[in-house]
Amino acid sequence: MFFHVILTTECNSQCRYCFGEALDDMDEDFSDLEIDYSLPRKANYDVDLLDRFCRKDPDCVLTFYGGEPLLCVDEIKRIMDGVKAKHFMIQTNGLLLDRLPSEYVNRFHTILVSVDGEETLTDFYRGEGTFRKVVSNLRLIRRNGFDGELIARMTVMEQTDIYRHVAWLVDNEDFSFSSIHWQLNAGFWGNDFARRDFKRWSEESYNPGIRELVKFWVDYMEKNGAVLRLYPFLGIAHSFLSGEETSLLRCGGGWINYAIQTDGYIVPCPSMWGMKDYYSGHISNADPLKLKKVFVDEPCTKCNIFHICGGRCLYANITKRWGTEEYSLVCDTVRNLIDAVAKETPRIRKLMENGRISLKDFEFMKYNGSEIIP
Ligand code: SF4
Ligand code: SF4
Repeated sequence: MFFHVILTTECNSQCRYCFGEALDDMDEDFSDLEIDYSLPRKANYDVDLLDRFCRKDPDCVLTFYGGEPLLCVDEIKRIMDGVKAKHFMIQTNGLLLDRLPSEYVNRFHTILVSVDGEETLTDFYRGEGTFRKVVSNLRLIRRNGFDGELIARMTVMEQTDIYRHVAWLVDNEDFSFSSIHWQLNAGFWGNDFARRDFKRWSEESYNPGIRELVKFWVDYMEKNGAVLRLYPFLGIAHSFLSGEETSLLRCGGGWINYAIQTDGYIVPCPSMWGMKDYYSGHISNADPLKLKKVFVDEPCTKCNIFHICGGRCLYANITKRWGTEEYSLVCDTVRNLIDAVAKETPRIRKLMENGRISLKDFEFMKYNGSEIIP
């Protein structure tokens, strides 16, 4: 099982799509859902409890999460020293990576770091100076011996030219990534659609950009005999190549990937903090292998690509922050993505037949926090 450990609800950044949106979303309520808005700011349970909980699952993987988890360096150290987990990972904005001693950083299996693309775009979304600081920290941890997977985690919305920024992250002079995933800021906030330009952008920029990017990805395989870990493409192509289908969320939310709140209660995904109706017990007495499962409902269960998509997002499916018509634009992006990968699959198969690449190159640690369906 995978667990996001929410160490704090606080953050040291004020990103447009998170802090900014949250401000605009303040007066929105979740109608009939009961939300606990009074969670402790920092994890307040005993590390021993977490250890005992984790030991019940030999494959327990813990991912530090927030807010910004690196605001809690001492707690991270205590947990890494005191909890028996199969792997530790972290999702961070990267600004404080230099604060955690390298003997801990080097133990991470994977680090997911928020970078939105080129410097100007990252700083536009995340604040001036963010890009430089993050890149300098990434260089530092590599110099200090971190050799695990480093995944760029992009948040994507109207200012993003997806092709240009992913291609840039793959190859640039500052810091190149071979692992990248992205998530569309779409369907997560209650009143943003009307003031945004999502329809035009998704149809005229994002969808064509994705098609171009899939070609770029396969061209790269042809030229270099290597498969870039562009997670949405990797996950979908792996399904096509291996014949695997899914009716379960690819992020694992609600069935294999849960989150532990700062008060020790367990929720199906980190975005669902405080949603009392969906609590799956408390780490003091829950069995990680027997947690209540939560699945997506309509429209996903009636969708003809559910077996490949898996439902995109449990939080969005439950809260329905965007109306049916608005959310169907998001589903159009999913269809476009799946279709784009399907169209390039014969070329991928040919490269496999020629021994240029193999199915193994498409394998990855599932549920590691990378979105396959952005
Ligand atoms: S495309 Fe949309 S409706 Fe279909 S399964 Fe995915 S999220 Fe659900
Ligand atoms: S995709 Fe949705 S359900 Fe899955 S982890 Fe992200 S917010 Fe949660």
